[in-house]
Amino acid sequence: MAVQAQATEHINPYEVALRQYDRAVAYLDLPAGIKTFLRYPKRELSVNFPVRMDNGDIRMFSGYRVHHNTVLGPSKGGIRYAPRVDIDEVRALAMWMTWKCALVNLPYGGAKGGVVCDPYTMSQNELERLTRRYATEIILFISPHGDIPAPDMGTNAQTMAWIMDTYSMTVGYSVPAIVTGKPINVGGSQGRTEATGRGVIICMDEALRRGGHTNPSEIRVAIQGFGNVGTYAAKHAYDLGYKIIAISDVTGGYYNGKGLDIDDVMAYTRTSQHHQLAGYPNADPISNEELLALECDVLAPCALENQLTGDNAANIKAFLVVEGANGPTTPEADDILFSKGVEIIPDILANAGGVTVSYFEWVQGLQSFFWDVEEVNRQLRRVLIRAYDDVVQTRDQYEVDMRTAAQITAIKRVGDATRTRGIYP
Ligand code: NAD
Repeated sequence: MAVQAQATEHINPYEVALRQYDRAVAYLDLPAGIKTFLRYPKRELSVNFPVRMDNGDIRMFSGYRVHHNTVLGPSKGGIRYAPRVDIDEVRALAMWMTWKCALVNLPYGGAKGGVVCDPYTMSQNELERLTRRYATEIILFISPHGDIPAPDMGTNAQTMAWIMDTYSMTVGYSVPAIVTGKPINVGGSQGRTEATGRGVIICMDEALRRGGHTNPSEIRVAIQGFGNVGTYAAKHAYDLGYKIIAISDVTGGYYNGKGLDIDDVMAYTRTSQHHQLAGYPNADPISNEELLALECDVLAPCALENQLTGDNAANIKAFLVVEGANGPTTPEADDILFSKGVEIIPDILANAGGVTVSYFEWVQGLQSFFWDVEEVNRQLRRVLIRAYDDVVQTRDQYEVDMRTAAQITAIKRVGDATRTRGIYP
């Protein structure tokens, strides 16, 4: 059963990112010129390149890499492989990376990359050739001290290993710090694969605890998306005793009111075609729209942008939305959910665990000194809870919603750093 998520055609993520920015920056006392400067991507690269397919045909692919801002440090951001990537999506994701890194106090700016392709219909050999060629096309844009890619939708640790190898072969020596999210045997960090999902649940748990909900077994959680973020969010929540009543992926939604056994689901996807949920036996099939509108306590959209919109936000029954995905909620939905009293933990906070452990990986790689997983998870929690506290403080100071508070906190840091550095020349 192929169930599509909410149609995304009419909502441009970059317009969403700019509207969020405009809403937040209005609260800040920054010079107008700096406010305008922070709205713009710093530089953008579009590439078109050929790849030889397994059947001998040569196919053209298009890709992008956007650096939104580098005031706080080298730019950082994932690379996405998806059929509908375009320059505006990459611009939006790069801008959100700038705010995310600033929010969790990492010495990074924001970037993002993407290739228009469907990785689920390509062989490993084709993906390797595409990745190596794309890496070569953007090589002038990336460097271990300038711009450091990581995985995102449709890419993974293997993709990062190919980029690391391609870059290293080109410069003539090994440069592990060119990417993060690498396999551990080539310089990756313990805990990086799980970090984004783990961070989503650290934030969820914190919000629930502050709201007086101290018994995880009473909390029903629905998770959209069962890729890197959704899987490890589900796993960490399950291990903490939360009841995961629904999950979904591009093949559809799966519901079990008694709570899904996430270890069993993960064992299933490890061997299923493309690691997808299709045919999972111990749950009832539901549609993506039904999952979003389920009777539950926490909804965690962990798949793609524009899932909660002006059209469906009124149907949301959860009292807490934790955004594992980037940009899953439109400004219209934000307003509806806020007026319904639904709390949102915004993407730039909720999914910042990934870039945080990417930073740890980069630091470990540059020092050639590696931490154990307990140290990684302890530091991850410390960084996220501090950021959570900062957002709550800003929310109370400005009397705004959590998203606006997170953006105000982040934009202020980048704006203040811009003033300190000055405008060149
Ligand atoms: P992924 O490719 O590993 O997984 C994406 C999941 O979404 C898959 O299960 C896929 O089947 C599902 N999906 C795709 N289309 C769907 C649809 N129409 N309906 C329901 N499910 C659908 O990607 P990921 O790395 O887990 O990223 C997911 C989101 O999290 C993205 O928004 C990404 O930008 C964001 N994110 C990822 C990371 C990271 O470290 N990987 C970090 C921060 C944010």
